[in-house]
Amino acid sequence: MTAGPSNGRRRLLVNGIVQGVGFRPFVFNLAEQLGLDGFVTNTSDGVVIEIQGEPDRLDLFQQRLRSDAPPLAEIVSVTAAEAAPQTAASGFVIRASENRPGTSTLIPPDVATCPDCRREILDPADRRHGYPFTNCTNCGPRWTIIRRIPYDRPFTSMAAFAMCPVCQAEYDNPRDRRFHAQPNACPVCGPQVFQQREDLVRGQGDPVADAAGYLADGQIVAIKGLGGFHLAVRADREDAVARLRRRKLREAKPLAVMAADLEAARGLGVISAAEQDLLQSPAAPIVLLERRPDAPLAPGVCAGHRRVGVMLPYTPLHILLLQELAARGVTALVMTSGNASDEPICLDNREAASRLSGIADSWLLHDREIVRRADDSVLMALPDGPLFFRRSRGYAPVPVALPAALAEGEPVLAVGPELKNTVCLLKEDRAFLSPHIGDLENLEANNFFQETIATLQDVLECRPRIIAHDLHPGYFSTALARRLEGVTLVGVQHHHAHLAAVWAEHGLDRPVIGLIMDGTGYGADGTIWGGEVLAGDAAVFTRLAHLQTVPLPGGDAAIKAPWRTAVSYLRHALGPDPARWPALPWLEEHPIGPVLEILDRQLNCPLTSSCGRLFDAVAALTGRWLEARYEAQAAIELMALTSLEDVNRAEPLVRLDPGALMGEALPVDGIIAGAARAVATGATAAEVSARFHRTLLDLLTGAVRAAHRKTGLQDVVLAGGVFQNEILLRGMQASIAELGLRPWRPVKCPANDGAVALGQAAVARARMGAAP
Ligand code: ZN
Ligand code: ZN
Ligand code: FE
Repeated sequence: MTAGPSNGRRRLLVNGIVQGVGFRPFVFNLAEQLGLDGFVTNTSDGVVIEIQGEPDRLDLFQQRLRSDAPPLAEIVSVTAAEAAPQTAASGFVIRASENRPGTSTLIPPDVATCPDCRREILDPADRRHGYPFTNCTNCGPRWTIIRRIPYDRPFTSMAAFAMCPVCQAEYDNPRDRRFHAQPNACPVCGPQVFQQREDLVRGQGDPVADAAGYLADGQIVAIKGLGGFHLAVRADREDAVARLRRRKLREAKPLAVMAADLEAARGLGVISAAEQDLLQSPAAPIVLLERRPDAPLAPGVCAGHRRVGVMLPYTPLHILLLQELAARGVTALVMTSGNASDEPICLDNREAASRLSGIADSWLLHDREIVRRADDSVLMALPDGPLFFRRSRGYAPVPVALPAALAEGEPVLAVGPELKNTVCLLKEDRAFLSPHIGDLENLEANNFFQETIATLQDVLECRPRIIAHDLHPGYFSTALARRLEGVTLVGVQHHHAHLAAVWAEHGLDRPVIGLIMDGTGYGADGTIWGGEVLAGDAAVFTRLAHLQTVPLPGGDAAIKAPWRTAVSYLRHALGPDPARWPALPWLEEHPIGPVLEILDRQLNCPLTSSCGRLFDAVAALTGRWLEARYEAQAAIELMALTSLEDVNRAEPLVRLDPGALMGEALPVDGIIAGAARAVATGATAAEVSARFHRTLLDLLTGAVRAAHRKTGLQDVVLAGGVFQNEILLRGMQASIAELGLRPWRPVKCPANDGAVALGQAAVARARMGAAP
């Protein structure tokens, strides 16, 4: 190209996720196509591009930079400035990165195998045929192999593998799909998979085919994946699934399934266009699909649930294994995280071998180290967008952009709650919410929690001095925050954090009503909150109303025994004499006397306004969910018996007095009395479920109306774990809209405690910004 007088030169600065996603080769090829001179390079400020050529070509380049960007790139901003044309311009080049300290590059999440790589591993003529670590700039591991930034091969667990000349040539060629693909590998030079029996002897055959054979026989195989280990077993054999549950001490919680392909997934669940998009997206999450009645699933996978969690193979190893299995007539595997109970997923081969011995019959391993854990993400596709249950692999640590009101200030670290913990680091105008960490109730989880904090701080090169934490003094995360020296602590009420997370995610700029329906959160008044009507923004809140408080016999112990909670709610609603309660068969069979006694004497009976406990109580009244074998089992399975259509047709359990809904305590006694009477007169659990949901929707709608009258606020945030209940969520969205108000629900982050750290961080940022 010659630099004629009509030529202009422009300097573009591009910010966002533009590293490790094939962005520079894309820029190179686009510039070549348009016949532009110049260069592209990574700098500490972002990707810098200089282009020179005819002005309309420059405009076209800028247009296509956004419209044709590679699928994994996320361009946050492009700023352009005119530059002086250079006479000696000759062609377009990719300049070496200038990575300096302070680099604010965003680490991309792991990406499911792309269609091109998939084609290659299945093509007998390709040199990567059957190779389980095939990847390119459009796909492959990222977060789980990165030790530190910049994201270059020597700083990843691929450093142990020197590229062969063929791979190196691909890596060096800007026209190749593998140009600067850091994990680039092939069968000659890359990681290898191997198969191991319980006796730790390596198998001699084809590891993938052997593992498929064992799985087809109904055995349990531990599979080393991207961000940890899975325990796998064929999904259609009840004996196999039952053995996995027995050995893993997982009695009842539903198990997720990996289907061989989209067609196999369609045999398991009904798949809408939105669900198909999510299943096939680069994040490849577990999508909770409406289960087909004739799905070839053993009852032990997810009996009692309307939905089944399904994902598609997202690494070459999964693709190859599922293909071998399909050839043996198996099209779906149960894939559950490889841990014994509620520990984080196993990381290295030795750890897995020791922790999973006694569970797995054999191991399918490989020699690429997993640097960081990442569990599978779980979500549901609702008509208005995804609803996250767990935001992890494929999504974290993509940051959430903060609204203008929170965009400025010092960095903040939020250490999150106790259960479903994530942590969040705020840097500039971005909130980096960590992958799912889990329940901080054992040493492994506590270590993982601390590692995750260290990782985020390292990767973002930032050590915040403002630390946000829950008010609960007994939480591990709170204790850790309090041990830090030289920091400013900001205690955040749990449900205010739920409100603030949604407020921040949607970039709201005004106070809102927060309808926070949750399990447990430490209240500002020493009681256990969880059914809250708040008003406020990220900085401040007031508690307008809450579900009427009821004593929780034995405190948290009642969560595992909903029948105890039911006894307390019955006593509260109908008085202390069980002879005056409706006749419920299960009351005879349980030692209710001692429960009534501790309630009378108020021994360890904290008051709670929890909506989760109200669900427990109603579910237990039916006699079907007297004990909880996993978190929120009663609420989840009670919901599964009904539908929004049934709920809309159902008779409420009680006619609510609109006057009572204007008060601070929202009455639940009538709901309990109504449910008990319904059960005693022969109502089925499904009928009770429909009528209870109807009544709760009426109650909460009344509460929102009252809150609106009191405050004049127009926006209503819905958050808290109970809003994972799609009937309640969709019902409230509809009724809030009918009131002429605007409902806001979490879309990028979970409704549950997985988003609490984001909310804590937002509150701390808002408060510190507001300080004089
Ligand atoms: Zn690829
Ligand atoms: Zn190679
Ligand atoms: Fe919560």
